[in-house]
Amino acid sequence: MEERINVTEILCVGTELLLGDIVNTNAAFLSGELAKLGFAVYHHSVVGDNPERLKGALELSLSRSDLVVMSGGLGPTKDDLTKETVAQYFGLPLEMDSECLDGIREYFAMTGRVMSENNEKQAMIPRGARVLRNRYGTAPSIAVSEGGKTVIMLPGPPVELIPIFHEEVIPYLRERSGYAIVSKNVNIFGMGESAVAQRLDRLLTESQNPTVAPYCKEGEVRLRVTAKAENETMALEMCDTVVDEILASEVGPLVYGIDADSMERVLVDLLHEKKLTLSAAESCTGGLIAKRITDIAGCSDVFFGGCVTYTNEVKQRLLGVSAKTLEDYGAVSEQTAMEMARGVRERTGSDIGISATGIAGPSGGSEQTPVGTVFLGISTEDGEAFRRLSLSPKRSREFIRIVSATNAYDMVIKWIKNKK
Ligand code: ATP
Repeated sequence: MEERINVTEILCVGTELLLGDIVNTNAAFLSGELAKLGFAVYHHSVVGDNPERLKGALELSLSRSDLVVMSGGLGPTKDDLTKETVAQYFGLPLEMDSECLDGIREYFAMTGRVMSENNEKQAMIPRGARVLRNRYGTAPSIAVSEGGKTVIMLPGPPVELIPIFHEEVIPYLRERSGYAIVSKNVNIFGMGESAVAQRLDRLLTESQNPTVAPYCKEGEVRLRVTAKAENETMALEMCDTVVDEILASEVGPLVYGIDADSMERVLVDLLHEKKLTLSAAESCTGGLIAKRITDIAGCSDVFFGGCVTYTNEVKQRLLGVSAKTLEDYGAVSEQTAMEMARGVRERTGSDIGISATGIAGPSGGSEQTPVGTVFLGISTEDGEAFRRLSLSPKRSREFIRIVSATNAYDMVIKWIKNKK
């Protein structure tokens, strides 16, 4: 049966969340996943383990949303109130679900633990509700749907919530919605979110199906294209048409991947494909360029290594940067960046050397080279180049480092692509 789920929200239960003892990662996870499925999430709420406030929060959520996804408060103890509160809201009695009880028994047998009476009570389910099997803990996940309103209750621990979402909730939502929802992400680097939005104004504001939504993170923009159709093939085709439109637009040349995990992943894949090797010489990035590359399993075939050279003396000793270059142009200069890149390439024997030297702040800038100035160098047998970044000095040290590393990857990707 097809149902309209227009507005969705997330309601997390737990006093620990309100006290700041734990971070609400479930809300972030659920929002990301629901958005991928094409649901519009309009609110996040958190409420403590208090019956009156939980009831109030649930009533408010259901007054404005068609689907409420809840996390937490499903445990066996007295202060776990989610199931009871939802059952009460819908006027449904709690009944023992024998299949669910068997599932809980199986879980205890598997983990070699003794089952208590309280755990048996966990198999009490609101009449007519759907049990979403939990193979990772004792609290069953439950979906209740009445009068056009749906509540999905999930256990709090992310080690349970995440796999249950993938295994049970996604199929449940797909089955209920009666259509296929497919998303594709277009990864863009080199243009800010508002500039991208300006260039794709019509697509972003007028598209209904597929929808196109921009997301940004440290210098990158991701456009999520989501299509709903009768079946997956049709939805995919609809997405592809819009992706092609984006590729053919002004932002097309800045697209570095479709559904790419990260720019470093794209770089590592490209190095593998072209059988090229890389090394890095870092100053202001403090090893971040190497760190993000080495986060990727299998990078050892293409990434030889690198060094963090913070002082002038170490730049000279480890990389062979000349004293004259440092004296004439300074450590934060295109000349130093290129000598660093050359030095690390020659010393490691890699095909490509990359470098970063700059001022990540918050102090240390001058009028000529303010905080946020970063020089990136690239050196290969065929030639050398540099890129100067002038990032806002108001940006955090972390931001400047991340964007510098991403620019370094971008330089290498563009160099490899332009070569062929
Ligand atoms: P349990 O059966 O483990 O009691 P539960 O559904 O009752 O599950 P809670 O007791 O509310 O869940 O939370 C259990 C643990 O799950 C918390 O101590 C916390 O570590 C984690 N947790 C709960 N809610 C969240 C959340 N929103 N984000 C991240 N972690 C959470």
